[in-house]
Amino acid sequence: MSLPSVPVSPDHAAPEEEVVTATRVACDGGALGHPRVWLQIDPTIGWIDCGYCGKRYLLARGAAAQ
Ligand SMILES: [Zn+2]
Repeated sequence: MSLPSVPVSPDHAAPEEEVVTATRVACDGGALGHPRVWLQIDPTIGWIDCGYCGKRYLLARGAAAQ
């Protein structure tokens, strides 16, 4: 088995994307603003979309080992 060198993103578009190195990230919407929520990225999936602002967080390769 080989892992891709970059995170795999789903086909549908996201308004913004950010590559992160931790499976647990906080999103407060940035300039748009929304209540801060914690998002848990499933390492087997490798990404998650914020339910408020739609921003996509991509888990960087190797980060799942943390
Ligand atoms: Zn958000």
